[in-house]
Amino acid sequence: MLTVTGLVKRYGPRRALDGFDLTVAPGEIVGLIGHNGAGKTTFVETVTGLVDPDEGHVRIGPYDTPRAARHLLGVAPQELALYGTVSARENVRLLAGLAGLRGRRRDAEVARVLAELHLTDLADRPVGALSGGQRRRVQAATAMVGSPPLLLLDEPTAGADPETRTALLDAVKARADAGAAVVYTTHYLPELVDLGATLALARDGCVIARGTQRDLTRDLPGELRVTFADPGEPELRLPTKDPGADLAALLAAGRTPASVDIRRPSLDDLYHSLEAAAL
Ligand code: ATP
Repeated sequence: MLTVTGLVKRYGPRRALDGFDLTVAPGEIVGLIGHNGAGKTTFVETVTGLVDPDEGHVRIGPYDTPRAARHLLGVAPQELALYGTVSARENVRLLAGLAGLRGRRRDAEVARVLAELHLTDLADRPVGALSGGQRRRVQAATAMVGSPPLLLLDEPTAGADPETRTALLDAVKARADAGAAVVYTTHYLPELVDLGATLALARDGCVIARGTQRDLTRDLPGELRVTFADPGEPELRLPTKDPGADLAALLAAGRTPASVDIRRPSLDDLYHSLEAAAL
């Protein structure tokens, strides 16, 4: 659904994008992660058509330019882009109109998306009178209305409370299950586990690792934690790639565990190992 190749964007001497490649299939959620300044927002802005790349290509569905593919895109930018003096419903209606919906179909779709994001009770308040988390949900609703086949969500849960986060994640999952391709940037890695996202790690304007969470964490050590029956024996915390073998070795050595906990490698571990490897 989305293929970008070799994107370069220069701001003076700085390269915000420096050979950024990414492919996203229909029904796939890609978690785009990376430190501040890695190029995630510039990538989103380039795919949206807000920023023209100096080099490289963006292909969206059958189209070779973001402008031609505008009707296929739903975007929730990091900096909220909403009309503060009109209601949440009117903001979402406006985008529904741009997505080509008219009349009763439009009203029904707007009501459906507002309900999906738990906004029905707030829908007729001016956006300027809503909280930050509520505005984020309205922004997500403007991206999702009309069910566009490509969603670009730039930190959609920044500052969100748990209820807001859950509503958003459920809505994103539902869109991917219905076949949408989703790019989801976040600094909150557990969300990507909940979403079952594949991962793209950006660093210095390019993607340095890409794959499923399982593939990317396979070779990392987890941790074996063991407490012992003898209260004088301290808890053992052992980084290990083979906890079963290490536990068997402990038992063979005659030690008697009181409790055993195996921690699998997490996305945090992956993030830190890739960041460290790239230094
Ligand atoms: P964050 O996690 O903080 O949102 P990011 O990965 O989204 O960061 P970008 O906002 O894409 O990073 O920025 C990438 C680099 O490009 C940064 O060094 C940033 O300072 C620079 N940059 C982005 N936009 C501009 C601009 N309009 N003018 C000059 N430099 C810019």
